[in-house]
This record gives sequence, structure tokens and C-alpha cells, in this order.
Amino acid sequence: MVAMREKIPDILPDRGLFIGGAWRESSAGGRIEVENPSTGEMVCDIADASAADLDEAVSAARAAFDGPWGAVAPADRGRLLMKISSAIAEHHEWLAELEALDVGKPIGEARADARALARYFEFYAGAADKVHGATLPYLPGYSVFTQREPLGVTGHIIPWNYPMQILGRSVVAALTMGNAVVLKPAELASLTSLAVARIAHEAGLPAGALNVVTGSGAGAGHALAAHPGINHVSFTGSLRTGTSVQAAAAAHAVPVTLELGGKSPQILFDDADVDQALPLLVKAAVQNAGQTCSAGSRILVERGLYPLIVARLTERFRALEAGPATADPPLGPLISAKQRARVEAYIELGRCELTLAARGEIAPGAPSGGHYVAPVLFADVPPGHRLAQEEIFGPVVVVIPFDGEREAVQIANGTPYGLVAAVWTRDGGRQLRLAKQLKAGQVFLNDYGAGGGVELPFGGVGRSGHGREKGMAALESFSALKTVVAHHG
Ligand code: NDP
Repeated sequence: MVAMREKIPDILPDRGLFIGGAWRESSAGGRIEVENPSTGEMVCDIADASAADLDEAVSAARAAFDGPWGAVAPADRGRLLMKISSAIAEHHEWLAELEALDVGKPIGEARADARALARYFEFYAGAADKVHGATLPYLPGYSVFTQREPLGVTGHIIPWNYPMQILGRSVVAALTMGNAVVLKPAELASLTSLAVARIAHEAGLPAGALNVVTGSGAGAGHALAAHPGINHVSFTGSLRTGTSVQAAAAAHAVPVTLELGGKSPQILFDDADVDQALPLLVKAAVQNAGQTCSAGSRILVERGLYPLIVARLTERFRALEAGPATADPPLGPLISAKQRARVEAYIELGRCELTLAARGEIAPGAPSGGHYVAPVLFADVPPGHRLAQEEIFGPVVVVIPFDGEREAVQIANGTPYGLVAAVWTRDGGRQLRLAKQLKAGQVFLNDYGAGGGVELPFGGVGRSGHGREKGMAALESFSALKTVVAHHG
């Protein structure tokens, strides 16, 4: 990791704002320090954009949309996205190292994120010239057809937990439809967004098609959400910030896509294939140290299997270790001291009020300045308890027993969220019944997450948000449907 730290000045010399195809300093001159969560050391700094910089970025995007970028034919857009995909694949190792340094993500997971980003560009490259309208039968003397058009300038506010993947699922889909983008990454995780801007520009993306404006959420983030020159806002993050983004965008009747996390259930029935389920139960819960919107952080187990599953999960949790990103441990550090304090407060509450089944370890020799939390498993958790209701965003997992299908659905649907759910059962009828009854944007049957699948529409119901990203569905969010009616007699 030291090596990557030394490479940053070559990869991103000034770490300024990327506006209109050029690097520039924040107009107010502000800088934000960048920390390595594995060590607590400061590694570099980035620009802190002001509202005036946001105006510049939106103007640059509008000029690109009304000019060269807007004139690119769909097939050529596709070719360009494919070129960017190849460039990202070529550079994926240092992108992964940069992400691991900035976010503390184990290097193996960071590599998977970089590969997923290349795959987003590849998937959408193939889609760019295949978004069709329809002809509609209407009255005699009429011909009617529909076409999908770009929205204009789209704003994207992304969080720190999966910067490359979330950039992929929102920014790339918006570019595919011909929109010009202004991206505000999280201040805790901006480096790969800046690197992607550089790579895309070098691959030939016209100036102004992708602008990256780093800075604080309350400053640059709010200025973007509230900007009258934006035609759509895509946000992933907390419920609290998401609702404030929605309110800011509503002042100009700007549509928003919100992905606000969840408290996703993994439901195991007595007839489940335990050996197939166990590794995924654990991975879905603690991947990225639990800092995952779709983390399967509530494990619901039918009574007959309950003692066995708690015992096997206990074994596995005791063997889990949190360590520095470069060592590629099962868990990296949390993103910040603030996030660690937040998660530790939940653990403390759980220790006072719940049954602690297992606790993993922090790797001996993990740097003392890193934000490590040993993973925790609580058993016999009442479904209404705060630890079973609130998104913790850390390696804290609850196990809840249930009796029968009806109670499973009741508990699974018993939070304000609805992002992902998984059902483990060999009973085909039950699989389909639960797929209908569960409140979630994605339901997995005898699986979890399906490796992230860029092809699979993703988004929530309830407090998990609205709108869909990923797959072809995202292209609808980033375009407007126009109906053309010709009366020819
Ligand atoms: P936030 O929702 O505050 O941050 C997400 C993004 O929004 C970041 O880019 C942030 O910028 C930006 N932002 C912050 N304030 C504003 C604002 N007023 N207007 C516009 N944009 C803003 O989440 P946190 O990082 O504070 O994390 C807190 C909790 O949120 C986590 O514990 C977790 O529960 C949840 N979360 C959920 C995620 C998901 O994937 N659904 C992802 C991240 C967090 P900046 O970081 O620069 O302030």
C-alpha cells in the first residue's frame, strides 16, 4: 500500500476538480485530507468544491450536451463506452489498489469492484444503440410512435462503500442514454472517481460529458441536488440524506432515483441445503465489513434448524478476522473513526440487551490507527429490537428464530426497508409464494446477490428508496419517453 501512496502524484497529480475536460482548483481554494482507513494515516488531499464550482460543472455539462457529446450517434457512444471498458480492465490492478488505500476495502474485493466497473461499461456499450421505441395502434388516420430521449444533465451523488460499482451503475447508464454527467463522490472515497474521469477522457470521452466535483456533502452535494440546471438526481446513501436530497431536487421538480440501504433478511427453512447456504449467509452479511446496502444482516432460521445454524454460524464468526486491506483479510477496517464509533455503539447496546453468540478477531499486528471492528453475531434477537430494525453498516449480524412460513414473511417484511431478500428452501411452491410476498426490490432463491450481476435491475421499495439502477431498467430512469402523434388522414 505504501507503493500505491507513492504512485498517487503520478496517477492524479493535482487531485483537482474535473470540469469541462480539464483539471482545476476549487474556486475557494479548499482542500480535504484523505485518510487510509487501514492505518489512520493521511495519504493525500482532494479539492473541496464550492457552489460556484458546481455552477461551472453544470454549465460545462450543459455545453457538452447541447454540443459535441449530444451529437454523438448511439452506435459511436457504444464504441466509446467499450473503449473505456477496455481501458479500465487494463488499469484495474492500480484502480483496485487505489480503492483499497482510500476505502480500506480488502484488495480482493477492490479488484472485484474494478472488474465490475469495466463490466458496467461493457454491458451498457452493447445497449447504447438498442434502446427502441414502439409503434402504437391508434385511430384511423393516425400514426403514433414513441422514442426514448436523454434527460440532459444528470447529477450523481455516490457513497463511499462501493465507489466504483455505484459509479458504474448510475453514471455509465446515464452516459449510455446520451446525458452529460456531474458526479459528486463521497469525500471519504473520491480517488477512483477522479481516476475514472482521467481514464474516460484519455479514451476519448468528449470534454464536459463527465465532470467530477469533489467536496463535502453539505456543500458540493447539496449544491448539486438543489441546482436548477440539473434534470435528474441519482443518490445512494442514508435515508436521512436521501430525503434531504429529494426535498432539494423537488424545489425544481427534478426527478430523483434514491437507493437508501436496507435491513435485508436471509430466510432459512428447515428443508434448506445447509452446506450450500452457510458460506453465502456469512459472506452476504459481512462483505465489505458489513458496509453494504444489500447486506443480508438479518438471518431468519426456522425452529427445527435453528440450533444447528446458530452453532455453525458461531464457528464461522469466531474464525473471521478484520485486518488491513493489503493483506486481503475476510474483513477490512470500517471507513472512518466516526463509522466505527457508530457501529460500536450498536454492539454495546446488543451486549447489554441481547445474547452474544460469537465475536471474531482483529488481526494481531493490524495498525492501531485503523478503524477495525471484530465481527459480531447476536442470537435469539427479538424482531422488533433496534439491532434487528436499523441499518448498522458494520459487521453486526442478528439471528432470529421463526415458526412456519407465515411468521417468516411477517418478520422479514417487518422493517421499514425493502431492498433485498433471500429464501433458502427446496420447496418450489414456497419459493414462488415468498418471491411474491416479500417486500424487496430483489428476491434471491437459494442464492444471495448473484455476484452483483450488472444485468439485474436493482433498487428498493419502502424506505429503501425508489427507481431502478443496473440492467436495462436503468436506461429508463435516465431517459424520457416521447410520444409522437402524426395525423395524416
Ligand atoms: P450519507 O447519506 O450522508 O452520504 C452519502 C452521500 O451523500 C455522500 O456522497 C455524501 O457526501 C453525500 N451527502 C451528505 N450530505 C449531503 C447533503 N446534505 N446533500 C447532498 N449530498 C449529501 O451517508 P454517510 O456517509 O453519512 O453514512 C451514514 C449511514 O448512511 C451509514 O451508516 C449507512 O447506514 C448509510 N449509507 C448507506 C449507503 C448505501 O449504500 N445505501 C451508502 C453509505 C451510507 P460526503 O460523504 O462527502 O459528506
